[in-house]
Amino acid sequence: MRRLIAGNWKMNLLRAEAEPLLASLCAGAAGLECDLLVCPPATLLSLAAMALSGSPIALGGQDCHAAARGAHTGDIAAPMLRDAGARYVIVGHSERRADHRETDADVRAKAEAAVAAGLVPIVCVGESESERMAGRAESVVGRQLDLSLPDGFAGAIAYEPVWAIGTGRIPSAEEIASMHLHIRSRLTGRFGAAGAAVRILYGGSVKPDNAGSLLRLPEVGGALVGGASLDAVSFLAIARAG
Ligand code: PEP
Repeated sequence: MRRLIAGNWKMNLLRAEAEPLLASLCAGAAGLECDLLVCPPATLLSLAAMALSGSPIALGGQDCHAAARGAHTGDIAAPMLRDAGARYVIVGHSERRADHRETDADVRAKAEAAVAAGLVPIVCVGESESERMAGRAESVVGRQLDLSLPDGFAGAIAYEPVWAIGTGRIPSAEEIASMHLHIRSRLTGRFGAAGAAVRILYGGSVKPDNAGSLLRLPEVGGALVGGASLDAVSFLAIARAG
């Protein structure tokens, strides 16, 4: 399975900053042995779509609404992302679960909307530090998967321990491998052979110096990268490690 290296720009970058970053990514993307994806803020989608056209780099959104259109001021519908050139969309990122109180049911509805619009949803799951300390990481992630994934799920999962995002701290190799195996077994248990084909990304403080070892762990099918995706040299180094 080809690994997917996805960059989540979050609420960062203005046009003048995005343009050179996109140009450097396009220049460095040739010959990569992984799939590369960037998820800019909505204001940069059309700029990014133009800059990436003709390159192997795919475009994604950072969230979508569960409805295809309507009176939802400030939100973005999945068909709008598709129309802007996106092929993927992140749903259920822990920052959205925390900042916007998104529930697993909300995330499931967004994932369904994404698929209906022809997008590949990347559904984020992950435990808090206190949940890990209490020995509940696998049960928390298992419940998130049960409730956030639609039937017949066709997308990717990003396992992102909340306490590892933007902190420079990552779980041990054993903890990551064991969680990815747990996720795989939940996926195959529910979706059969289709569950074996789902890419399971790891996210949380992935950097060029840890990417190689993380991406070689069992069942790690790529990475969701926040901070390091804002720098072309770092992001391409992670992609080359994949
Ligand atoms: C993220 O926001 O999905 C993320 C993994 O961030 P970072 O790489 O900065 O920890």
